[in-house]
Amino acid sequence: MDRAVLLRSLSCSTTAYRKLFFRTRSSSSCFSSIPHKQKKPFRVLNKNGPLRWVPPHHFNLIRSFSVPPQAVSTSPIHPSPPVDLDGSHDIADKLGFEKISEQMIEECKSKAVLYKHRKTGAEVMSVSTDDENKVFGIVFRTPPKDSTGIPHILEHSVLCGSRKYPLKEPFVELLKGSLHTFLNAFTYPDRTCYPVASTNTKDFYNLVDVYLDAVFFPKCVEDFQTFQQEGWHYELNNPAEEITYKGVVFNEMKGVYSQPDNILGRISQQALFPDNTYGVDSGGDPQDIPKLTFDEFKDFHRKYYHPSNARIWFYGDDDQNERLRILSEYLDLFDANSASNESKVEPQKLFSGPVRVVEKYPAGEGGDLKKKHMVCLNWLLSDEPLDLQTELALGFLDHLMLGTPASPLRRILLESGLGDAIVGGGIEDELLQPQFSIGLKGVSEDDIKKVEELIMTTLKDLAEKGFDPEAIEASMNTIEFSLRENNTGSFPRGLSLMLRSIGKWIYDRDPFEPLKYEKPLQSLKAQIAEEGSKAVFSPLIEKFILNNPHRVTIEMQPDPEKASRDEAAEREILEKVKASMTEEDLAELARGTQELRLKQETPDPPEALRTVPSLSLNDIPREPIHVPMEVGEIDGVKVLRHDLFTNDVLYAEVVFNMRSLKKELLPLVPLFCQSLLEMGTKDMDFVQLNQLIGRKTGGISVYPLTSSVRGQKDPCSHIVARGKAMAGRAEDLFNLVNCILQDVQFTDQQRFKQFVSQSKARMENRLRGSGHGIAAARMDAKLNVAGWISEQMGGISYLEYLEVLEKKVDQDWDEISSSLEEIRRSLFSREGCLINLTADGKNLTNTEKYVTKFLDLLPRMTSMETTSWNAQLSPVNEAIVIPTQVNYVGKAANIYETGYQLNGSAYVISKYIGNTWLWDRVRVSGGAYGGFCDFDTHSGVFSYLSYRDPNLLKTLEVYDGTASFLRELELDDDTLTKAIIGTIGDVDSYQLPDAKGYSSMLRYLLGITEEERQKRREEILSTSSKDFKEFADAIEAVKDKGVVVAVASVDDIAAANEGRPDFFQVKRVL
Ligand SMILES: [Zn+2]
Repeated sequence: MDRAVLLRSLSCSTTAYRKLFFRTRSSSSCFSSIPHKQKKPFRVLNKNGPLRWVPPHHFNLIRSFSVPPQAVSTSPIHPSPPVDLDGSHDIADKLGFEKISEQMIEECKSKAVLYKHRKTGAEVMSVSTDDENKVFGIVFRTPPKDSTGIPHILEHSVLCGSRKYPLKEPFVELLKGSLHTFLNAFTYPDRTCYPVASTNTKDFYNLVDVYLDAVFFPKCVEDFQTFQQEGWHYELNNPAEEITYKGVVFNEMKGVYSQPDNILGRISQQALFPDNTYGVDSGGDPQDIPKLTFDEFKDFHRKYYHPSNARIWFYGDDDQNERLRILSEYLDLFDANSASNESKVEPQKLFSGPVRVVEKYPAGEGGDLKKKHMVCLNWLLSDEPLDLQTELALGFLDHLMLGTPASPLRRILLESGLGDAIVGGGIEDELLQPQFSIGLKGVSEDDIKKVEELIMTTLKDLAEKGFDPEAIEASMNTIEFSLRENNTGSFPRGLSLMLRSIGKWIYDRDPFEPLKYEKPLQSLKAQIAEEGSKAVFSPLIEKFILNNPHRVTIEMQPDPEKASRDEAAEREILEKVKASMTEEDLAELARGTQELRLKQETPDPPEALRTVPSLSLNDIPREPIHVPMEVGEIDGVKVLRHDLFTNDVLYAEVVFNMRSLKKELLPLVPLFCQSLLEMGTKDMDFVQLNQLIGRKTGGISVYPLTSSVRGQKDPCSHIVARGKAMAGRAEDLFNLVNCILQDVQFTDQQRFKQFVSQSKARMENRLRGSGHGIAAARMDAKLNVAGWISEQMGGISYLEYLEVLEKKVDQDWDEISSSLEEIRRSLFSREGCLINLTADGKNLTNTEKYVTKFLDLLPRMTSMETTSWNAQLSPVNEAIVIPTQVNYVGKAANIYETGYQLNGSAYVISKYIGNTWLWDRVRVSGGAYGGFCDFDTHSGVFSYLSYRDPNLLKTLEVYDGTASFLRELELDDDTLTKAIIGTIGDVDSYQLPDAKGYSSMLRYLLGITEEERQKRREEILSTSSKDFKEFADAIEAVKDKGVVVAVASVDDIAAANEGRPDFFQVKRVL
């Protein structure tokens, strides 16, 4: 899923090598193909997840900035001797826990103890470390037998009220009123995880208690209406109308099944594992979800959500005994059951020969359908679990083959011109047995066989010839850097460790092993040094891939009629259902629909709300989190220094003002940035350049950054070159940045052509998967200049530009090449430059001489001209047609234009609107996966958005009702306090040092002072119900003057334009 584009902050290779270190891909993989994970709480992710969409290159400063998660890889067995560090086992013993093993984990400076709860057999891993970002998680093995989505619907439903917390959604109350740094749940193909994190101990234990009560004693197993709401139900508003299907998971999965990449991932997994639980979809196939009965649902919970089938994780600086005390209160209430035998995942036996599967996917009518085929080769690597040494070597091999744009398998496939973009995730080892997948999309029908052959011959070639020593060194450095840095972005470190550990623990393997990478890494290094890399990697390619008969080839064909055919099939089923009902049945169904809606729309009584524990305002620090910043100058260039402990890593940003760029050139900027990193110089081709970056640094990236500035007409618009390295390699880092900015040659027409088709494929993917992001960008472009710029570089306008550019590359390459040169000339000069450095004081001082040298080499400009970009899109309502079964609906207006003056209370109120009004109406009763609002305090744009929404005009009515909702609202003190605390939780969200330095720089660029931060915080803390009423007047403007953009299906748009003639201007893009 699209993480905030702004956060494209690590090197271009990050997404690839992230996989090696972050096998679990958890924070971004709810919608990734394999393995499948569902993340329920769409809005949990507002703060730091992939779904909180930030308009491209925009940012919301009061929130945090994150970088993509990375974590370390698995490692082989090398047991440490048990050490008894204190007498805590006596207490554990009294509480009913038997200590199984205790180990020091040097890699994360932690002590880890594994316990077994005697009475039930529940296993508990208790990790003590000095990290204040505490993490708890409870995980059950939940292998499904069919594709009705039981585990996924249950994951949603248990968070809808429990024994101690008998309200509609305690989960949402936690979202509103806690300081959580993480709060979510995931469904995997074979397990369900419930993790929470907080830096505040009291808050942390509150969260743990709500989660434990939810999983063990949920109300949903007695409450059919929750099953209907989260799973599926027939909806009939009055007997004369048509019956429809509704349900949060049902619509969520319809969205998933509208995305070709997701469909491919699902088909691949199911074809690789036809005989075990991975052969069905734990998320739920929309065609099968309505087959699920309430009894099956209840049984599944009774069987698997049991301590005997649970693995529990604690991590952080809190008291270990307190953890066990809280657990024993729950676990002691159960007796052992046999669930852990029944939930074991049986391995898939290897095939004796390859298999081929051909399937259709829903495509739009636009473009050349012949060129929209996809082909992917998949292997199941082994029928038994591999030892960790082999897994580590395979992970390394994966990075060598696919990890960076320079990696041979990735490069050769893309350079072949046979397809637009890579599909398949390389090596995946999150499930019981590892797999390898690779393929291309955007392939012409006639070239399918050629792609298959090219993959096989390239793999053979790699097995025969091995890899360059430079490539080996670059991968090794990248991996070691990543391990040392352990930068998990906004994802808690303890959670990333938990997911790694669980990846083995869930299969009854040693949970400690995956945490200890040092020794196996060193031994792999030694083996490569002794025997040469070929001796290590060639046998792996031969054994696991080339000579492995368990190969599944998936071919996907575009079918422009599939979406409407599926829709018609669904209609037909529903018509039959209706025809089979008597008049009384129909009246009963309509009554049930009413009742469900009434329940959904009735607020919880105050006494129920009070059961959810919360902090008080006294627990909240009065001052914002301080980030040290010293503003200095080197030869007239501003240099910001942030003295923070970074474990000897130097983080550097070199920022250039983009305001001197001609506006026609703006859409070329993203490809300009990619060219800098991926085109090569006079002396080095791009492979050598990338290897050098990999060998010397932790990654370099270049990207544009644009935002409105409050109170100013002109936007703030920059190009950022961001890099990191061990501080001892600061000189290399700055030399490489200089080389990228100044020496790269824009001469490689063929590579540029690939960039264009890759970008096009990426944009098309975003349009289907993150239509709400596309809609938001489009609205922003209609409302302000910064939005217009961003849309030129990442919205529909950009996609249209790419379509024209694709042809132009062949016809007029010289002009493009000289435009790229022109961008470089206008951007890179000392005059528009700013440097931002984050490291500890000693390393900052040492870096200074390299910064001086870097600046000396930058060209000077006699005069810095700024051009006027005064452009916006026409503010008409637009509907973008895509082949989809669910819509994305947005409405927005600039509320500063109505005279509204920014006050910190706006953060509290917009969060509250999202968590109550929109959650209840758009998600809970509307059946959309998500509904939320966003207030960009820099531009003044207040926007509403929905995600995977079965409705269109009805959702707009909900948006328009927001002001009345606020006016009629009667807020009690408890509710208000929770809303304030929840907002502070967002403002103070946990940041690693690099993110702190980066946010501080952004505040500097936007002119946000410490005084202003303090003032906003005080305003947040003193928010009153009067502020809510006043805000209602401000957002009334969205109702009256707001512009609407929907990304939706052709039928829904037609119906909307029939209901409100000429409401939408229709635009087809796919
Ligand atoms: Zn879900």
